[in-house]
Amino acid sequence: MLRFNLYSSAGALGELLATYDKVGEHLDESYISILEAARNTQSKLLGIELAEMESDRMDPQPVCGPVRIVKAELFRNASTLCGLVIGVSETAYRMAVIQETGQRGTLRVFTLADSQDERTAADFVESMQDLFKVSLNSRDVMSDRARSLIGEGLAQIVVAEQAEHAAARTLAGKDARELAVAIKSGSGLLVDLAKQMGSDGQAGLPSVRERLLESDLVVGETVVLCGKTGQAISRVRSRSTLDAMADAGLRCSCGKPANEEKIEEALSITELGRDLLDKSRWMTLVLIEELLHIGVSPDHIFVEQQFDGDEIACIAIISGDVVLFELRDGRFSLGHAHSFNAKIGIVQPDYSMVVTTEKIGNDAKIHFDRRRQAVRKNMPRPYVDESVEPLFVEGISNLRAGLEDLVTNLVTKDARRVLSEVLPLAGITPGTLLRGLGLDPVG
Ligand SMILES: [Zn+2]
Repeated sequence: MLRFNLYSSAGALGELLATYDKVGEHLDESYISILEAARNTQSKLLGIELAEMESDRMDPQPVCGPVRIVKAELFRNASTLCGLVIGVSETAYRMAVIQETGQRGTLRVFTLADSQDERTAADFVESMQDLFKVSLNSRDVMSDRARSLIGEGLAQIVVAEQAEHAAARTLAGKDARELAVAIKSGSGLLVDLAKQMGSDGQAGLPSVRERLLESDLVVGETVVLCGKTGQAISRVRSRSTLDAMADAGLRCSCGKPANEEKIEEALSITELGRDLLDKSRWMTLVLIEELLHIGVSPDHIFVEQQFDGDEIACIAIISGDVVLFELRDGRFSLGHAHSFNAKIGIVQPDYSMVVTTEKIGNDAKIHFDRRRQAVRKNMPRPYVDESVEPLFVEGISNLRAGLEDLVTNLVTKDARRVLSEVLPLAGITPGTLLRGLGLDPVG
């Protein structure tokens, strides 16, 4: 998975520019400059002094507000990309107050690196912080939708107890979930459960049962069955409780002391287990955990949101983009696709992801495919937004990889936007080229 980090800080422009000139000597030789190298080559080729080369105008839609780039450099250090940008606001530039002392400028530092290999990126940011003597604030490249969504003031997640997350993680296992559902909906008697699990499930039953007990999803119980009628007459927490109650005079309706009747072991669902299975809340908790794992801020996770009445949606702002999640314990088919489309219409996310414990039905896939083709038909190719089709994750075990792929796509998009502002500085302008060739009528 790739990680893109963007930081910014403000300072006196004169000081920022003076410090900028020391960056080269401050960094060790493992950092190789990219823009300067390109400009040096062009300067030699055309015989124009570096200082006289014009740089191209920046992208008309900059990421961080209307800022004009004054100086910028990119460095590579092995496969880590590091960037440094000094800018002033476009209005200040137009008013030609750039040289004026006291003019404020902005410093931006960014890095793009694999998440396994973030040491260099962190070192670069720290090194720039030391050199410029500023504190760099992390920021996201926010989409318009993300900005407006934050403005809507959605309820943020209440961080669940560690034990609750661990229990949700247990239910993510298919065998554990099936057993928990069977216990919740049936008698919970071990003999019945063994029958329900079939010959394949029976072998694994003791270990699955142990996992459910450890996670406090179920509790063990002792069930008393009347020897005459075969009916369950009472459930107690343990054999010793039963003995104590029998001593106190508890008898079966047939008259026998309760602890002399037939005793069976059973499991019953706890409040935690019921809560996590209801509306598949365990999936929401697993999603939250995975989002936090990939580095999404808890402030940017919104779950169980009400939109238009009882619609419930899980939304996260990942790398500045709004992602709508659909969690489904079971198969996802055409009917679910229709209701998900309605949610997409209401929430208007930048991206959407369907996470299921089973397969996504072909009917649903065909539906989304048709929808995409319809959008394509009405829009010329370069403008087709690939995000109209949800990303599919089939099986909870694939959730982490699916989210990591999504993050890589989103950060690459952000990095491209930031680079598109900086890279024109590596190119020559038509004016410089003509001047270099002696074809400039003015020169
Ligand atoms: Zn009895």
